[in-house]
Amino acid sequence: MTNDGVGTTLAEATKALNAWIEVDLDALAGNARVLRETAGEATVIAVVKANAYGHGAAIVGPALEAAGIERFAVVYLPEAVALREAGVTRPILVLGHSFPRDAATAVAHDITLTVDTPAFAEAVSTAALAAGKAPVPVHVKVDSGMHRFGLMPDEVASLAARVRELEGTTVEAIWTHLANADHEDDSFTAQQAAVVEEAVRLAGPVPMRHMANTATTIRHPEFRYDAVRTGIGLYGALPDHTPDPGLRRVLNMKARIARVFDVAPGEGVSYGLTWRAERHSRVALVPIGYADGYHRALSNRGHVLIGGRRCPIVGRISMDQFQVDVTDVPGVAQGDEAVLIGEQGGETITAAEVAGAIDTINYEVLAGLNRRLPRLGHRNGVIEARA
Ligand SMILES: *Cc1c(COP(=O)(O)O)cnc(C)c1O
Repeated sequence: MTNDGVGTTLAEATKALNAWIEVDLDALAGNARVLRETAGEATVIAVVKANAYGHGAAIVGPALEAAGIERFAVVYLPEAVALREAGVTRPILVLGHSFPRDAATAVAHDITLTVDTPAFAEAVSTAALAAGKAPVPVHVKVDSGMHRFGLMPDEVASLAARVRELEGTTVEAIWTHLANADHEDDSFTAQQAAVVEEAVRLAGPVPMRHMANTATTIRHPEFRYDAVRTGIGLYGALPDHTPDPGLRRVLNMKARIARVFDVAPGEGVSYGLTWRAERHSRVALVPIGYADGYHRALSNRGHVLIGGRRCPIVGRISMDQFQVDVTDVPGVAQGDEAVLIGEQGGETITAAEVAGAIDTINYEVLAGLNRRLPRLGHRNGVIEARA
């Protein structure tokens, strides 16, 4: 995070930027409020992995803490350490795989690990005792049928027993992840819940169980348990088959047109000359490319907003730039704003629309946004944080 431009307006701070991401902190706080209400009694664990789904974890983490979010989760330990360094003080859980040698780092930063072997639990206990922080909580993940990371219920029980013998650790939670939370048919979610309950029965009581992602938090009160892990909903995007409880888009992705030029009929643009003008055309050059996470598969498929109009991408997307046909938009000039995700002149392009054009999901479009793009956290257009 830097302080450059903090206190100035977006309009001022972006004058000399080729491309950037605007993060609406009021929308983010509003989404946190909506999900907090939706979760009822359950604790909300904000999932800020993958640079907060591309939004900038160093901006999003502190803003969510200020908005009252109780806990955070990421997938890998370095993400958790970065979140602490950005100023997050509340509990942070690592959901993915870590190594016994990570224990001391995690304990030093008060980061909660998901442990998967007795040796790992022993390393956490040793680190906790050495740091004078014993007992530290650990979480155990049950593989309830998705068959990715996790342990079978009997393995959960024996690991929990081992953790309880150790002086330096306690089992704070048993948790799982759902395979079909965004499917119309919920029968597999119910089956997975039964496996969690079986694991808890074998392991003995634990303070917390958690399972629900955004889709389940919204759709299934009975599976919210003690805590819910909401990711995509905080960013104002939704999984499939999930009703909108009143969330708002947090991210706008924009660029400043770097060049506007004429292309004569028959001439081509960009690598491979895959698009050729059929008429006298005006083309705008947008300084974002696949290195920024703007997928090359959008070549000749996607749209961007220029002059409040939806304009087609023409030719291939390069590593750092691409072209848009603006023949039908009068007066487009160098320096004008192009909106790749967001709203302009009453038209909106969502991450879901971008995803739909290239046969993927909104999660991938957002999480894939590269760190080269500056993130500007703002309220009502006044910059509050930058990353
Ligand atoms: C990403 C993730 C979540 C959040 O899922 P959303 O659908 O974005 O709410 C929850 N739990 C785990 C284990 C995850 O990896």
